[in-house]
Amino acid sequence: MRIKATAALVTFVGFVTSAPAFAQDLGPDIRKFADGIYVYVGKNFNSNAGIILTQDGVVLIDSGHSPIDSRAILDAVKKLTPMPVRFLIDTEPHPDHTTGHFVFPTATIIAAAGAGESMRNREREVPDRIARLAATSPAMKTALEGYRFIPPHVEYNEKMTLHVGERTFELKYLKGVHSEADTAIWLPKERILFSASAYVSEQVNIFRPFVNIADILAAGKMLKALNPDHVIPGHGPPVTTALFDVGEKYYSLLVERVAAKVKEGKSLEDIKKEVKMPEYAGWASQDRMATNIEAAYRMVVAKN
Ligand SMILES: [Zn+2]
Repeated sequence: MRIKATAALVTFVGFVTSAPAFAQDLGPDIRKFADGIYVYVGKNFNSNAGIILTQDGVVLIDSGHSPIDSRAILDAVKKLTPMPVRFLIDTEPHPDHTTGHFVFPTATIIAAAGAGESMRNREREVPDRIARLAATSPAMKTALEGYRFIPPHVEYNEKMTLHVGERTFELKYLKGVHSEADTAIWLPKERILFSASAYVSEQVNIFRPFVNIADILAAGKMLKALNPDHVIPGHGPPVTTALFDVGEKYYSLLVERVAAKVKEGKSLEDIKKEVKMPEYAGWASQDRMATNIEAAYRMVVAKN
């Protein structure tokens, strides 16, 4: 009798775990945007990741901020479907999007051309990167068990269309917006856009020397024209196309203020001290403002 009861219980548990999970069962970090489309929203501006179910398996967009996040994403996938992760699309090659590749060994990893080189350069330049990350906490050390460096398997130029099950993913290379290889991913039927890190919401973006405002504005125009219902940036809360409007206004104000100082004959050093953007004082990462002013300065000086 007891054995029979146990067997019934096992059957019941098995049924519950294989049934589709409700978003609330997936923990507070996961938001549902449409049937089968979820976003793991990074805490405190950590990177976001997309979980997209299809009839032919799972497609991930980015692998989480750290391997701890990657494992939480994998746990969510397992609750949602018994199907494997077939593809993982990187929005950029930086470690806060790609260190967790190894957590998804079944996935073919896709990125824009130059992503693998960017990742390999970093491995060479910071050879103790993983050891240092493991030292940050016991949980991180555990999450890093089995770590392997995995650059993208497939790199595309300019654009790529991926058909998986019933879904279509349009990959669009974004030049000069954040890293050496940025990709926006557009789901045209579902009208959901993963917009990468060209624009981050409620946060000052970081500018590397090869990033420029003109390219960012061009990318924003192109992405806004898709007319998505939801915009999932690389970092920060999911939003709408207002992200691009806010960004455009921010950059035009910044360039205007820097141009006025250049006209007064001020040096870049003075401009960095004097230009203020009080309208955006509530944005996170204010320490990056100097890199934004430098980019605006480069743009203004190139025009003169
Ligand atoms: Zn980045």
